[in-house]
Amino acid sequence: MQFDQFNLDNRLVKAIDHLGFEKASDIQQQAIPAAMAGHDLIASSKTGSGKTLAFLLPALHRLIRQRALAKRDPRVVILTPTRELAKQVFGQLRLVSAGTQFKSVLILGGENFNDQVKVLSRDPHIIVATPGRLADHLDQGHFYLHGLELLILDEADRMLDLGFADQLKRIHQAADHRKRQTLMFSATMDHQQVEDFALDLLNKPKRIA
Ligand code: AMP
Repeated sequence: MQFDQFNLDNRLVKAIDHLGFEKASDIQQQAIPAAMAGHDLIASSKTGSGKTLAFLLPALHRLIRQRALAKRDPRVVILTPTRELAKQVFGQLRLVSAGTQFKSVLILGGENFNDQVKVLSRDPHIIVATPGRLADHLDQGHFYLHGLELLILDEADRMLDLGFADQLKRIHQAADHRKRQTLMFSATMDHQQVEDFALDLLNKPKRIA
């Protein structure tokens, strides 16, 4: 299946063209239409499967369709277990969002806190972050998630293994449940905490293996 068959916004199809990817990977073929249809997802996905674009493309498509440019409060939050992974996701986001004017920011643990307060006050549309630091900013009221539409948990199993369950829940609960869609990606599926978490947080999720 090719990327122009998903009914994605033209700017996104062009960005993919630019990257030279011809065919959508398995996870992309399954996750992109399901996410675009508004379902919560729990998807099994290894690094190298193309999982990052499987969530970035529907996220950007949604922002474009909703004319979210003028809106305040972040619309999309992407959480990853490590700083390294967050940087990689942010890099891919920059590439595929090049044709749009959405503001995206990277909020990592271990970096200057006050600089991040300033960055968050400028109303980014998309936040890529590690959960501990983002939860700190949320608790201190440096940004709000009332307008959040899409929460993406990348490598959820690793985030739970690292002890971030509480932070993930706080971030999840800060969003309005009528608007919020949650996409959860995990390398392992037979992980009890992932299962419990999915049961607790996701709304009739589609499973993608
Ligand atoms: P990921 O699994 O998201 O970490 O992606 C692994 C690598 O595959 C990244 O460098 C992507 O840019 C690349 N990639 C993603 N989707 C495709 C695709 N459909 N065809 C070829 N390469 C891809």
